[in-house]
Amino acid sequence: DATSFAVRVAPLGGTGLVLVLAEDQTEHRRVEAVRRDFVANISHELKTPVGALSLLAETVQDASDDPEAVRRFTARMRAEASRLSALIQDLITLSRIQGAEPMTEPTRVDLEALVADALDALSMPADAKGIELVSSGSEGVTVLGDEGLLGTALRNLVANAVSYSPENTRVAVSVEVGETSVGISVADQGIGIPQQDLERIFERFYRVDAARSRATGGTGLGLAIVKHIMTHHRGEVTVWSQEGAGSTFTLRLPRPDNRGRDAARDNDRQ
Ligand code: ADP
Repeated sequence: DATSFAVRVAPLGGTGLVLVLAEDQTEHRRVEAVRRDFVANISHELKTPVGALSLLAETVQDASDDPEAVRRFTARMRAEASRLSALIQDLITLSRIQGAEPMTEPTRVDLEALVADALDALSMPADAKGIELVSSGSEGVTVLGDEGLLGTALRNLVANAVSYSPENTRVAVSVEVGETSVGISVADQGIGIPQQDLERIFERFYRVDAARSRATGGTGLGLAIVKHIMTHHRGEVTVWSQEGAGSTFTLRLPRPDNRGRDAARDNDRQ
Protein backbone atom coordinates (compact mmCIF):
# COMPACT_ATOMS: atom_id res chain seq x y z
CA ASP A 1 0.00 0.00 0.00
CA ALA A 2 1.25 3.45 -0.86
CA THR A 3 1.95 5.71 2.08
CA SER A 4 0.08 8.98 1.99
CA PHE A 5 0.43 12.15 4.01
CA ALA A 6 -1.95 14.99 4.79
CA VAL A 7 0.18 18.12 4.61
CA ARG A 8 -0.81 21.30 6.44
CA VAL A 9 1.03 24.59 5.95
CA ALA A 10 0.77 27.40 8.51
CA PRO A 11 2.59 30.75 8.20
CA LEU A 12 4.40 31.73 11.40
CA GLY A 13 3.14 35.30 11.93
CA GLY A 14 5.52 38.02 10.78
CA THR A 15 8.61 35.79 10.57
CA GLY A 16 8.31 34.96 6.89
CA LEU A 17 8.62 31.30 7.85
CA VAL A 18 6.02 28.60 7.31
CA LEU A 19 5.36 25.54 9.44
CA VAL A 20 4.76 22.35 7.46
CA LEU A 21 2.91 19.49 9.19
CA ALA A 22 2.83 16.10 7.53
CA GLU A 23 0.40 13.57 8.95
CA ASP A 24 0.51 9.92 7.97
CA GLN A 25 -2.87 9.05 6.47
CA THR A 26 -2.18 5.44 5.54
CA GLU A 27 -3.65 3.85 8.67
CA HIS A 28 -6.58 6.26 8.65
CA ARG A 29 -7.35 5.39 5.02
CA ARG A 30 -7.07 1.66 5.72
CA VAL A 31 -9.54 1.87 8.63
CA GLU A 32 -11.89 3.94 6.45
CA ALA A 33 -11.72 1.32 3.68
CA VAL A 34 -12.45 -1.53 6.10
CA ARG A 35 -15.43 0.40 7.45
CA ARG A 36 -16.75 1.11 3.95
CA ASP A 37 -16.38 -2.56 2.98
CA PHE A 38 -18.21 -3.62 6.11
CA VAL A 39 -21.14 -1.31 5.43
CA ALA A 40 -21.28 -2.51 1.80
CA ASN A 41 -21.24 -6.12 3.01
CA ILE A 42 -23.98 -5.53 5.56
CA SER A 43 -26.17 -3.88 2.93
CA HIS A 44 -25.66 -6.85 0.64
CA GLU A 45 -26.31 -9.41 3.39
CA LEU A 46 -29.49 -7.63 4.48
CA LYS A 47 -30.79 -7.21 0.96
CA THR A 48 -30.66 -10.95 0.23
CA PRO A 49 -33.29 -12.10 2.78
CA VAL A 50 -35.39 -8.96 2.32
CA GLY A 51 -35.43 -9.52 -1.46
CA ALA A 52 -36.38 -13.17 -0.94
CA LEU A 53 -39.17 -12.18 1.46
CA SER A 54 -40.63 -9.73 -0.97
CA LEU A 55 -40.53 -12.24 -3.85
CA LEU A 56 -42.12 -14.91 -1.66
CA ALA A 57 -44.87 -12.53 -0.58
CA GLU A 58 -45.68 -11.84 -4.23
CA THR A 59 -45.74 -15.57 -4.96
CA VAL A 60 -48.10 -16.22 -2.04
CA GLN A 61 -50.41 -13.51 -3.33
CA ASP A 62 -50.50 -15.10 -6.78
CA ALA A 63 -51.06 -18.57 -5.31
CA SER A 64 -53.84 -17.56 -2.91
CA ASP A 65 -56.22 -20.22 -4.30
CA ASP A 66 -53.70 -23.04 -3.73
CA PRO A 67 -53.50 -23.75 0.04
CA GLU A 68 -50.60 -26.19 -0.33
CA ALA A 69 -48.47 -23.62 -2.19
CA VAL A 70 -49.40 -20.94 0.35
CA ARG A 71 -48.27 -23.24 3.16
CA ARG A 72 -44.96 -23.99 1.42
CA PHE A 73 -44.14 -20.39 0.59
CA THR A 74 -45.08 -19.01 4.00
CA ALA A 75 -42.80 -21.63 5.60
CA ARG A 76 -39.97 -20.29 3.45
CA MET A 77 -40.90 -16.75 4.44
CA ARG A 78 -40.58 -17.73 8.08
CA ALA A 79 -37.13 -19.23 7.41
CA GLU A 80 -35.98 -16.03 5.66
CA ALA A 81 -37.34 -13.91 8.51
CA SER A 82 -35.45 -15.95 11.09
CA ARG A 83 -32.26 -15.63 9.02
CA LEU A 84 -32.74 -11.89 8.95
CA SER A 85 -33.29 -11.84 12.68
CA ALA A 86 -30.14 -13.96 13.32
CA LEU A 87 -28.14 -11.55 11.17
CA ILE A 88 -29.42 -8.50 13.03
CA GLN A 89 -28.69 -10.20 16.37
CA ASP A 90 -25.12 -11.02 15.28
CA LEU A 91 -24.57 -7.46 14.04
CA ILE A 92 -25.69 -6.10 17.40
CA THR A 93 -23.39 -8.52 19.27
CA LEU A 94 -20.46 -7.65 17.02
CA SER A 95 -20.88 -3.89 17.31
CA ARG A 96 -21.26 -4.16 21.09
CA ILE A 97 -18.12 -6.22 21.57
CA GLN A 98 -16.07 -4.18 19.09
CA GLY A 99 -16.83 -0.94 20.86
CA ALA A 100 -16.52 -2.44 24.33
CA GLU A 101 -14.16 -1.00 26.90
CA PRO A 102 -11.57 -3.38 28.32
CA MET A 103 -13.21 -5.52 30.97
CA THR A 104 -13.20 -3.82 34.34
CA GLU A 105 -14.76 -6.47 36.56
CA PRO A 106 -14.23 -9.94 35.11
CA THR A 107 -15.97 -12.58 37.20
CA ARG A 108 -15.09 -16.19 37.84
CA VAL A 109 -16.69 -18.36 35.19
CA ASP A 110 -17.29 -22.05 35.84
CA LEU A 111 -16.35 -23.93 32.68
CA GLU A 112 -18.33 -27.05 33.59
CA ALA A 113 -21.57 -25.03 33.51
CA LEU A 114 -20.45 -23.03 30.47
CA VAL A 115 -19.74 -26.17 28.44
CA ALA A 116 -22.95 -27.90 29.62
CA ASP A 117 -25.03 -24.85 28.61
CA ALA A 118 -23.41 -24.64 25.17
CA LEU A 119 -24.00 -28.34 24.48
CA ASP A 120 -27.56 -28.00 25.74
CA ALA A 121 -28.22 -25.09 23.41
CA LEU A 122 -27.13 -27.13 20.38
CA SER A 123 -28.71 -30.45 21.36
CA MET A 124 -31.67 -30.05 18.97
CA PRO A 125 -29.75 -29.51 15.72
CA ALA A 126 -27.20 -32.14 16.84
CA ASP A 127 -29.93 -34.73 17.53
CA ALA A 128 -31.53 -33.99 14.18
CA LYS A 129 -28.27 -35.07 12.49
CA GLY A 130 -27.45 -37.90 14.87
CA ILE A 131 -24.37 -35.99 16.04
CA GLU A 132 -23.10 -36.97 19.46
CA LEU A 133 -22.02 -34.08 21.72
CA VAL A 134 -19.45 -35.01 24.37
CA SER A 135 -17.34 -33.07 26.85
CA SER A 136 -14.35 -33.69 29.08
CA GLY A 137 -12.00 -31.98 31.49
CA SER A 138 -14.15 -29.02 32.49
CA GLU A 139 -14.94 -30.19 36.06
CA GLY A 140 -13.72 -27.72 38.65
CA VAL A 141 -12.00 -25.43 36.13
CA THR A 142 -12.72 -21.72 36.20
CA VAL A 143 -11.50 -18.72 34.20
CA LEU A 144 -11.93 -14.99 34.67
CA GLY A 145 -14.15 -13.22 32.19
CA ASP A 146 -17.57 -12.24 31.01
CA GLU A 147 -19.79 -15.31 31.27
CA GLY A 148 -22.30 -14.14 28.67
CA LEU A 149 -19.64 -13.40 26.07
CA LEU A 150 -17.67 -16.60 26.69
CA GLY A 151 -20.92 -18.55 26.38
CA THR A 152 -21.61 -16.87 23.04
CA ALA A 153 -18.10 -17.72 21.78
CA LEU A 154 -18.39 -21.37 22.77
CA ARG A 155 -21.92 -21.74 21.37
CA ASN A 156 -20.80 -20.24 18.05
CA LEU A 157 -18.01 -22.83 17.77
CA VAL A 158 -20.27 -25.76 18.70
CA ALA A 159 -22.95 -24.49 16.28
CA ASN A 160 -20.39 -24.41 13.46
CA ALA A 161 -19.08 -27.87 14.38
CA VAL A 162 -22.62 -29.25 14.08
CA SER A 163 -23.40 -27.29 10.88
CA TYR A 164 -20.28 -28.36 9.02
CA SER A 165 -20.34 -32.04 10.03
CA PRO A 166 -22.07 -34.96 8.32
CA GLU A 167 -24.63 -37.12 10.11
CA ASN A 168 -23.65 -39.60 12.81
CA THR A 169 -20.36 -37.99 13.76
CA ARG A 170 -19.11 -36.63 17.06
CA VAL A 171 -18.38 -33.15 18.37
CA ALA A 172 -16.11 -33.10 21.42
CA VAL A 173 -15.54 -30.15 23.74
CA SER A 174 -12.48 -30.56 25.93
CA VAL A 175 -10.91 -28.32 28.53
CA GLU A 176 -7.21 -28.39 29.24
CA VAL A 177 -5.40 -26.48 31.94
CA GLY A 178 -1.88 -25.49 30.90
CA GLU A 179 0.96 -23.69 32.69
CA THR A 180 -0.27 -20.21 31.94
CA SER A 181 -3.51 -20.67 30.06
CA VAL A 182 -6.74 -22.62 29.91
CA GLY A 183 -7.78 -24.06 26.54
CA ILE A 184 -11.30 -24.97 25.50
CA SER A 185 -11.30 -27.01 22.28
CA VAL A 186 -14.19 -27.89 20.02
CA ALA A 187 -13.27 -30.78 17.73
CA ASP A 188 -15.47 -32.06 14.93
CA GLN A 189 -15.24 -34.80 12.30
CA GLY A 190 -16.70 -32.56 9.64
CA ILE A 191 -15.88 -31.29 6.18
CA GLY A 192 -12.80 -29.35 7.30
CA ILE A 193 -11.46 -26.07 5.93
CA PRO A 194 -9.04 -25.71 2.99
CA GLN A 195 -5.60 -24.52 4.11
CA GLN A 196 -5.76 -21.33 2.05
CA ASP A 197 -8.99 -20.23 3.75
CA LEU A 198 -7.85 -20.80 7.34
CA GLU A 199 -6.43 -17.31 7.75
CA ARG A 200 -9.53 -15.57 6.50
CA ILE A 201 -12.40 -17.39 8.20
CA PHE A 202 -12.30 -15.00 11.17
CA GLU A 203 -13.05 -12.03 8.90
CA ARG A 204 -16.58 -10.67 8.93
CA PHE A 205 -18.73 -12.32 6.21
CA TYR A 206 -15.89 -14.53 4.95
CA ARG A 207 -17.18 -17.99 4.06
CA VAL A 208 -15.47 -20.93 2.44
CA ASP A 209 -18.70 -21.88 0.69
CA ALA A 210 -21.30 -19.11 0.78
CA ALA A 211 -24.18 -21.22 -0.53
CA ARG A 212 -23.59 -23.93 2.04
CA SER A 213 -23.21 -21.45 4.87
CA ARG A 214 -26.48 -19.71 3.98
CA ALA A 215 -28.27 -23.04 3.62
CA THR A 216 -27.28 -23.94 7.18
CA GLY A 217 -28.52 -20.56 8.42
CA GLY A 218 -25.05 -19.06 8.90
CA THR A 219 -24.65 -15.29 9.05
CA GLY A 220 -20.92 -15.23 8.25
CA LEU A 221 -20.30 -13.34 11.50
CA GLY A 222 -19.96 -16.19 14.01
CA LEU A 223 -16.17 -16.49 13.96
CA ALA A 224 -15.62 -12.72 13.79
CA ILE A 225 -17.65 -12.49 17.00
CA VAL A 226 -15.59 -15.29 18.59
CA LYS A 227 -12.34 -13.53 17.67
CA HIS A 228 -13.44 -10.19 19.13
CA ILE A 229 -14.65 -11.86 22.32
CA MET A 230 -11.27 -13.54 22.76
CA THR A 231 -9.37 -10.29 22.13
CA HIS A 232 -11.59 -8.64 24.73
CA HIS A 233 -10.45 -11.35 27.19
CA ARG A 234 -6.76 -11.01 26.28
CA GLY A 235 -7.04 -14.51 24.92
CA GLU A 236 -7.00 -15.96 21.43
CA VAL A 237 -8.79 -18.39 19.16
CA THR A 238 -6.82 -20.81 17.01
CA VAL A 239 -7.82 -23.39 14.45
CA TRP A 240 -6.48 -26.65 13.13
CA SER A 241 -8.20 -28.27 10.21
CA GLN A 242 -7.85 -30.87 7.56
CA GLU A 243 -10.22 -31.11 4.63
CA GLY A 244 -12.42 -34.17 4.88
CA ALA A 245 -11.12 -35.05 8.34
CA GLY A 246 -12.43 -32.28 10.58
CA SER A 247 -11.61 -29.10 12.43
CA THR A 248 -10.58 -28.17 15.96
CA PHE A 249 -11.10 -24.63 17.23
CA THR A 250 -9.43 -23.71 20.52
CA LEU A 251 -10.31 -20.80 22.79
CA ARG A 252 -7.30 -19.93 24.95
CA LEU A 253 -7.65 -17.75 28.03
CA PRO A 254 -5.09 -16.60 30.59
CA ARG A 255 -5.12 -18.84 33.64
CA PRO A 256 -6.73 -17.03 36.55
CA ASP A 257 -3.85 -17.84 38.93
CA ASN A 258 -0.36 -19.21 38.67
CA ARG A 259 -1.08 -22.21 40.84
CA GLY A 260 -2.38 -25.65 40.02
CA ARG A 261 -5.78 -26.75 38.99
CA ASP A 262 -6.58 -27.87 42.53
CA ALA A 263 -5.66 -24.45 43.84
CA ALA A 264 -8.25 -22.92 41.51
CA ARG A 265 -10.73 -25.42 42.89
CA ASP A 266 -9.85 -24.50 46.48
CA ASN A 267 -10.29 -20.82 45.69
CA ASP A 268 -13.81 -21.52 44.57
CA ARG A 269 -14.70 -23.19 47.83
CA GLN A 270 -13.60 -20.20 49.91
P1 ADP B 1 -21.05 -18.91 9.07
O1 ADP B 1 -22.24 -18.23 9.61
O2 ADP B 1 -20.93 -18.86 7.58
O3 ADP B 1 -20.85 -20.28 9.64
P2 ADP B 1 -18.67 -18.19 10.59
O4 ADP B 1 -18.00 -16.87 10.78
O5 ADP B 1 -19.16 -18.88 11.80
O6 ADP B 1 -19.83 -17.95 9.55
O7 ADP B 1 -17.65 -19.14 9.82
C1 ADP B 1 -17.01 -18.69 8.65
C2 ADP B 1 -16.77 -19.83 7.68
O8 ADP B 1 -15.79 -20.73 8.22
C3 ADP B 1 -17.99 -20.70 7.42
O9 ADP B 1 -18.78 -20.17 6.38
C4 ADP B 1 -17.38 -22.03 7.03
O10 ADP B 1 -17.03 -22.00 5.67
C5 ADP B 1 -16.09 -22.07 7.85
N1 ADP B 1 -16.22 -22.88 9.10
C6 ADP B 1 -16.43 -22.41 10.36
N2 ADP B 1 -16.43 -23.41 11.25
C7 ADP B 1 -16.25 -24.55 10.57
C8 ADP B 1 -16.14 -25.95 10.92
N3 ADP B 1 -16.25 -26.37 12.20
N4 ADP B 1 -15.93 -26.84 9.92
C9 ADP B 1 -15.80 -26.44 8.63
N5 ADP B 1 -15.89 -25.15 8.23
C10 ADP B 1 -16.11 -24.21 9.18
